[in-house]
Amino acid sequence: MTRATDCIFCKIVAVEIPAAVVFENDSIFAFLDVGPLAEGHLLVIPRDHYANLVELPSSLCAQIGSLIPKLGRVLLDVTAAEGFNLLANQGRVAGQVVPHVHFHLIPRVADDQLGYRWNAGEYPPGRSEELAAAYQAALAEHED
Ligand code: AMP
Ligand code: ZN
Repeated sequence: MTRATDCIFCKIVAVEIPAAVVFENDSIFAFLDVGPLAEGHLLVIPRDHYANLVELPSSLCAQIGSLIPKLGRVLLDVTAAEGFNLLANQGRVAGQVVPHVHFHLIPRVADDQLGYRWNAGEYPPGRSEELAAAYQAALAEHED
């Protein structure tokens, strides 16, 4: 088991601090967010410490990903939510406060005032094609 000193989520996994656990298996832990954006707000994490998605092995990411549809269905059953946001902040600049990779499932109801739309920009002519080509080239070079 890989853990980091002073990581609050590693401490939750090690049962050194309490959490309202909703699911656990050998590699994954899911629990209620202590500061919910809505009732039933969940966090899903790997037991092992990885700071963010970029460091997470893809096999472990796949295990977490395959659990999320079921957690989503259960969230819709258990809470009054009509939908939910799946959110994963990567890096401090993106709003990540706890540096142990985690996925938020945030229950949503109509007119809950939580908001989610950010200001969208637009590309000058040719730029999206340029970027897509750069992404394709980088994807061909990177390991999975
Ligand atoms: P993020 O901003 O994406 O890093 O989100 C971190 C989340 O962890 C926040 O929504 C916090 O409310 C939540 N959180 C921090 N400490 C705890 C804790 N001890 N138990 C449950 N959730 C926590
Ligand atoms: Zn950790």
